[in-house]
Amino acid sequence: MAAARVAVVGAGLAGLSAALDLHEAGYAVDVFERSRLLGGRATSFIVDGHEVDNGQHVFLACCEAFIAFVRRVGMEEALHLEERFDVVAFRRGVGARLRAAALPAPWHLALSFASYRHLSVGARFAVGRALLAVGRATTFEGNFAAWLSAQRQPQESLEAFWEPFVVPALNAPLARVPASEAAFVLQTAFLRDAGAARFGWCTIPLAHIAGAAARPLNAVYLSSGVAGIEAHRDRVVLLFVGGERRRYDAVVLAVPPPQLARMLGDPARFGLPNLHAYEPWPIVDVHYWYEGGKTDFAFAALLESPVQWAFSKGEGYLCCSASAAGEIMTLATEAVAERCWDDVRSTIPSLRDARIVTSAVTRNPYATFLPPPDAIRPSAQTAHPRVTIAGSWTATGWPDTMESAVRSGSTAAQTLTDTLTRIGSV
Ligand SMILES: Cc1cc2nc3c(=O)[nH]c(=O)nc-3n(C[C@H](O)[C@H](O)[C@H](O)COP(=O)(O)OP(=O)(O)OC[C@H]3O[C@@H](n4cnc5c(N)ncnc54)[C@H](O)[C@@H]3O)c2cc1C
Repeated sequence: MAAARVAVVGAGLAGLSAALDLHEAGYAVDVFERSRLLGGRATSFIVDGHEVDNGQHVFLACCEAFIAFVRRVGMEEALHLEERFDVVAFRRGVGARLRAAALPAPWHLALSFASYRHLSVGARFAVGRALLAVGRATTFEGNFAAWLSAQRQPQESLEAFWEPFVVPALNAPLARVPASEAAFVLQTAFLRDAGAARFGWCTIPLAHIAGAAARPLNAVYLSSGVAGIEAHRDRVVLLFVGGERRRYDAVVLAVPPPQLARMLGDPARFGLPNLHAYEPWPIVDVHYWYEGGKTDFAFAALLESPVQWAFSKGEGYLCCSASAAGEIMTLATEAVAERCWDDVRSTIPSLRDARIVTSAVTRNPYATFLPPPDAIRPSAQTAHPRVTIAGSWTATGWPDTMESAVRSGSTAAQTLTDTLTRIGSV
């Protein structure tokens, strides 16, 4: 019997992860990607002769599926993982360090937190009390701001701890972050395993990871936008933007909610009624090539600044990232670069006299997606047996991250296999 033919729509990490699993399971796999680039949101491109990421991406040591994915595609050497959690946070020119000690979780950070100078002693106790409550609680309802308010967190702990650490991790203001997702991140990264929160990043531009993932696949079509699908009892037909039609035994649609809604036409028929209610949150990154200054950190948090994190990406190259970017998202490019640079120079002492040689701004209005309040993220199986979905925004147990994308792809591939076996198509 010929191998079942399956199509994967979307060559982000979710689509590539699904396609690799399906290819290894013996299916004939075609991948269709609307863009000319591989990697989706985790990609890179050339700006003024520099290859820059579509925004700085980091992962934590607990992102096991993402790390395994990179290893599987032969790019493990392109990953850097810190030996311990070690973060410097700057406020108005003053730095404070949070560094894990050789103690079991959650005590590994207690010593360094006890001397975290951006918080008064009372605020440090308040944060410690709330972290222990996160560790004890089993259910979380509502948003994280309300949960913190119930834990009587003072304003200074919000400004110098919760906002700088939780907002970039979940890319939304505390009042919009589901308390359950914030708790998941805190428990997984900080409260269970002393090594889990170690930061990691790719040492090469992100599109190269996606490129390596696509290499074993026989048929990856770029600049091939899928406009819609026709799902029948015995097949699925993909309808392409140019008018072409292609028939498959089953499909994995690995695209974000707005594109999925358009492709399905009537999402409710597929058991996905509220795709339009998924809320996109933006991220802005400013890439600076500078001279006349230096950094002695790989990455640093900036307090009281629209830039939450700055990453030293090489000699004279700093990438600044603004999550849940509100106001600066709408500023003109030069104004964004100037505004963030002023902040960087007044916040990081060793860059006070630095001068920009050139800069680039990358804006991502749809960087991550949050489900509507109290909605449950959808699983891989739609109401149609031959149509499976994947994506970082689906129900993987993780927030919208690279880890979630990779997990969702594997789950979609397994779901599709199980379903085709059940209905006798393989
Ligand atoms: C600036 C920025 C910073 C981020 N920082 C981090 C971070 O530090 N850590 C982290 O873990 N995550 C981070 N993320 C989130 C992470 O990038 C995403 O969660 C993940 O890459 C999403 O993968 P995906 O495959 O689910 O979706 P996508 O990457 O969005 O892939 C979907 C693909 O489908 C394609 N597509 C859409 N419509 C069609 C169509 N009609 N036909 C064909 N193809 C189509 C798209 O072009 C895209 O390539 C960041 C995102 C951004 C933008």
